[in-house]
Amino acid sequence: MFKEAKEIVEKSNKIYIVAHINPDGDAIGSTFAVYFALKKMNKDVHVVMPSYSTVFEFLPGVQTSINSIEDEEYDLLIALDSSDVTRLAISEDEYKRAKKVIMLDHHQISAPYGDFRYINDNKSSASEIAYLFIKYLGAKIDKDIATLLYTGIMTDTGSFNYSNANADTFRAVAELLECGAEAVSVCKKLNDTMKESKLKLIAKTVDNMEVYFDGKLRFSYVSYKEISELGINDEDSEGMTNYLRAVEGTEVAVYVRGKSDGSLKVSMRSGGRIDTSKIAIAFGGGGHPRASGYTMKEDIETEKEKLIRAVGEMI
Ligand code: AMP
Ligand code: MN
Ligand code: MN
Repeated sequence: MFKEAKEIVEKSNKIYIVAHINPDGDAIGSTFAVYFALKKMNKDVHVVMPSYSTVFEFLPGVQTSINSIEDEEYDLLIALDSSDVTRLAISEDEYKRAKKVIMLDHHQISAPYGDFRYINDNKSSASEIAYLFIKYLGAKIDKDIATLLYTGIMTDTGSFNYSNANADTFRAVAELLECGAEAVSVCKKLNDTMKESKLKLIAKTVDNMEVYFDGKLRFSYVSYKEISELGINDEDSEGMTNYLRAVEGTEVAVYVRGKSDGSLKVSMRSGGRIDTSKIAIAFGGGGHPRASGYTMKEDIETEKEKLIRAVGEMI
């Protein structure tokens, strides 16, 4: 399955690894796991990750990431967890300087790019694919790699609660635990610890909540001004949508946050019946049926109305 990709890796020395912008646990877990595996294979390898939430700083390797690719040419780019070349955390120019590109992804809707592509939406996460890839390369899964892969699978499956966590996923996780994955401390740090400012952001999100269609749609917009007043940066201002979705009767939850660059980031979650990725795609974004997103193009009031109408048509 990864035969051609393995050949490309074997022929390459200077390798960069990249995931999507605004990296989540899966983007971070999969990239640094592959990073450590390639280091074991004596490759000259770096992860390019210009920004990430401080909550992930404890993970092995994260602090070694670099902001950009300086080389005029390099052998290989490995792109993980990004369905679309435009969402990668590097510029078009940095992308073009790669002699070869390997794309590993698990999104349902994707715009394939690169020389070798493995896209499988039956896999829970890019980290589950990275686990298979690393084994195929023949690199040993040590404690750090296991912890990273575990983190990616845990975060993308909602701590093994979502339907994307299947029997293969649990078998992979069992092996990662045998390899020494620090499951308890990952859970403690990511699921059971938050800054006080985050708790205040939850309060703000609830305060700003608007309810439509008899509670089937819950919408909350938190402006950049409100977010910055709480002392929260862009990376730490996400993760609010699930609180809205968890309210009984909710079919679609939408959290919109203002970002420091002036843009408005939409984050949608579905209770299961409605495929929110259809809405996200219609507005220029993407994602999965139960978790999707896009960036608003006009002002919040205009965009909100369009979104409520689109959701209404599906409810
Ligand atoms: P988020 O709500 O930011 O966690 O995003 C949920 C999912 O939606 C992500 O895993 C992506 O697959 C997808 N997504 C979010 N924003 C965008 C976007 N601007 N373009 C394409 N896909 C997106
Ligand atoms: Mn991701
Ligand atoms: Mn993912």
